[in-house]
Amino acid sequence: MKTYGYAAQSAQTPLAPFAFERRALRDNDVAMEVLYCGVCHSDLHQARNDWGFSRYPMVPGHEIIGRVTAIGSKVSRYKVGDAVAVGCMVDSCQHCDQCRKGEEQLCREGNTQTYNGVDRITREATQGGYSKHLVVREEFVLRVPDNLDPSRAAPLLCAGITTYSPLRTWNVGPGSRVGVIGLGGLGHMAVKLAVGLGATVTVLSRSPDKRADALALGADALLVSSDAQAMKAAASSFDLIVDTVPVKHDLKPYLPLLDIDGTLVIVGQVGPLEDITSVPLLLGRRRVAGSPIGGIAETQELLDFCGKKNILPECETIRMDEINHAFERMERSDVRYRFVIDMATLQPA
Ligand SMILES: [Zn+2]
Ligand SMILES: [Zn+2]
Repeated sequence: MKTYGYAAQSAQTPLAPFAFERRALRDNDVAMEVLYCGVCHSDLHQARNDWGFSRYPMVPGHEIIGRVTAIGSKVSRYKVGDAVAVGCMVDSCQHCDQCRKGEEQLCREGNTQTYNGVDRITREATQGGYSKHLVVREEFVLRVPDNLDPSRAAPLLCAGITTYSPLRTWNVGPGSRVGVIGLGGLGHMAVKLAVGLGATVTVLSRSPDKRADALALGADALLVSSDAQAMKAAASSFDLIVDTVPVKHDLKPYLPLLDIDGTLVIVGQVGPLEDITSVPLLLGRRRVAGSPIGGIAETQELLDFCGKKNILPECETIRMDEINHAFERMERSDVRYRFVIDMATLQPA
């Protein structure tokens, strides 16, 4: 199938129109027209080869909302016209212990990334959602609840599941005391989802400037992390802290905030952190953990939960040809809180 999108041709070049082919439908494939695609920080990192394993040309995008246009002969769960979604992975081995538990993101053979991955059958590069059409095996396609606004739902597929999964792993619910560090694409979703699950939620920020924003998102409080007295008063008062900061930073000020057996879970930074000391970990039996996206079943649970509770990301809709400017603004944290591309603005290459 001939299609088109926006691709990076190298780490140095901006994204530009690109014509390419999607594979012919296999028996278990769903073809869709992409309607909206969220812009994730990792799209920028991958386009610029910040993590060192990028291949080009690369069509980024893994927060995808679409509509089914065709199905393979053995597809049973979807029909033409269905509102569907695709997130960060499009395949996995399907037979290891993790896949059988519905934790495909942790597949022992490695999951297949939606873009900058390798198709398990043809060994061709996978290409993402900054494109008109997408072909994905049925097991990795999600259903979008009818009442979820498709123009705002896209960021749930990465920012949403990346913050929902740790909230579920650590059993957040009514009575839980949750802290969120960082109030960007991930952080604002962590706040909304933790509030939706019934937790008491505090945003941790270096300055009080974000107090109004935090409260508007549903948080109960903002704790100013540069205020030594306030930090001392908040010692041992959190069950879970979700750390969404996407750059190297210091965990030491946050660890004493955890109660006994509390966990600080890292979901933002991929790479080094400042040195930590084990003292607060030993004394309070506290943990530092990491968490990636969730599995397919958990991602569907998230979409259904957001449909039921009417939880949606805060989005700024852009045109496809504004993507390079959006990357620049994202680098300056100049977005509240996620860019979403309206794919109707994508012209044939
Ligand atoms: Zn992402
Ligand atoms: Zn597997």
